[in-house]
Amino acid sequence: GLRVHESTMQSPDSILQSVFGFGSFRPGQGPIIDHLMRGENLLAVMPTGAGKSLCYQVPALLLDGLTVVVSPLVALMDNQVAGLRANGVDVACIHSGQGREVNVSEWRRVAAGQVKLLYLSPERLMTPRMMSAMKAVGVSMFVVDEAHCVSKWGPAFRPEYAQLSDLKTHFPDARIAAFTATADAATRDDIADALFAGRGRVIVHGFDRPNLSLTVTPKIDRKKQLLAFMDGVRGQAGIVYCLSRKNTEEYAAHLRAAGHKALPYHAGLDAGLRFDTQERFMAEEGVVIVATIAFGMGIDKPDIRFVFHLNLPGSMEAYYQEIGRAGRDGAPALTHMLYGLDDVRMRRQFISEENSEPAHQIREMKRLDALLTYCEASTCRRQVMLSYFGEDSPACKNCDICEDPPEMIDATEPLRFILDTIIETGERFGQAHIIAVARGADTERVRQFGHDKLPSYGKAKAIGAPYLQGLIRQALASGHIDMDIARYGALGVKDKGRAVVEGTATFECKSIRTNTRATRKDR
Ligand code: ADP
Ligand code: ZN
Repeated sequence: GLRVHESTMQSPDSILQSVFGFGSFRPGQGPIIDHLMRGENLLAVMPTGAGKSLCYQVPALLLDGLTVVVSPLVALMDNQVAGLRANGVDVACIHSGQGREVNVSEWRRVAAGQVKLLYLSPERLMTPRMMSAMKAVGVSMFVVDEAHCVSKWGPAFRPEYAQLSDLKTHFPDARIAAFTATADAATRDDIADALFAGRGRVIVHGFDRPNLSLTVTPKIDRKKQLLAFMDGVRGQAGIVYCLSRKNTEEYAAHLRAAGHKALPYHAGLDAGLRFDTQERFMAEEGVVIVATIAFGMGIDKPDIRFVFHLNLPGSMEAYYQEIGRAGRDGAPALTHMLYGLDDVRMRRQFISEENSEPAHQIREMKRLDALLTYCEASTCRRQVMLSYFGEDSPACKNCDICEDPPEMIDATEPLRFILDTIIETGERFGQAHIIAVARGADTERVRQFGHDKLPSYGKAKAIGAPYLQGLIRQALASGHIDMDIARYGALGVKDKGRAVVEGTATFECKSIRTNTRATRKDR
């Protein structure tokens, strides 16, 4: 095995080669290791499979003193320990999944300075006895794996992880390295605050999936748009996501009628049928699954060539995960989303109906808003997506915006027509009625409320409804307008919008395309 006391003479590269047998670090690993070697606290956000473990294992072998790795799952710990031992690295492991004698003898080896790495479950770490025993041994680094478990609002919150915030006070000289694959900004802030009071670096790396092309189009005619897209990927395996079980059956039938090998999948189907459907997807060529989000978890098919969304997903994280199922083999794959304001309204409704704390709901709304900003992007979509996750990137040349940059137009006047209508009708109505009034439609509702008498009535008569819908979506994404779910999606005017009404600001937006034509890529 490795003679750890000699390792201080070595460099990260030599450890990588001699211990792990790899030729070079992956991009992202090098900088993380450098920061840790310099003694800085760090939160590294990297997707699963990016190679997080090496980022702390290499410094652990180079640093004097002990590295303590806190991991929430016994199975994960055992896995890591077995891997390291297979590479000849002597490590210790203490958790409740093994007998007391084993834990005691493991600790003896740690106390005797025989190992450089100790894997430990969090509830074992934060006891007063363990704290003082560790102070006596001397810890040079704490590693918090699956660090999103610190975040109170996250789906994986663990109370024992919350206690890890005391580590910094007990061990002011030890560096803290936190790792997670969960990248949203709020969770990142929670982790950095809890573990090192924000005094450390956050590095986000590896979220880009350059082989996935990114396209988003406003929903005009879902069926037509789907069929146009499918013409370009005929005979290839893919997933079409929709919201309702009923839709999965309906759209699978549409696709079959157009000669595609399409099958529905949702949680309401009989388990045997679901299993068969998955099997066919894995084994046969060119099967298209029309599914709710129930499909995908645990599906590891490398050659999924497209993911098409008939509806807006619930958050940027969810979207990233769903499109991430395509192109795992690294070959080009298409992703395409349709979305409309009705989706936004429905998603907001879902969140507001969730039985959760207000702070949680606000966070969910923000995640949804981030996705809306992505949908309405006028610059490279990949940049918008990655910057949400905290990662910088150049323009990608593999998204609809890069391929066909939208023309920016001044839409101050049409937006004012809409904003005036919203204000004059008391900020109590949804998009359909607002557009009806602005375009001077003669509907019963318009007459019933006397909205045909308003100054704004008919001002936008010359402008098509799809254009105005696009305008409203962009104004919502840019924060000129908001939507009140408690009042059935009533549109309101925000400060930015008031400035446009008052004539102190203009409104630039993407020129709005209102046809169902597929993008160049899809044809
Ligand atoms: P994560 O914890 O980020 O999900 P792992 O640390 O388990 O990822 O690493 C994923 C895989 O990548 C492992 O099989 C690991 O051995 C391999 N790997 C990590 N870094 C390198 C590297 N620099 N060169 C080659 N393989 C690597
Ligand atoms: Zn791009």
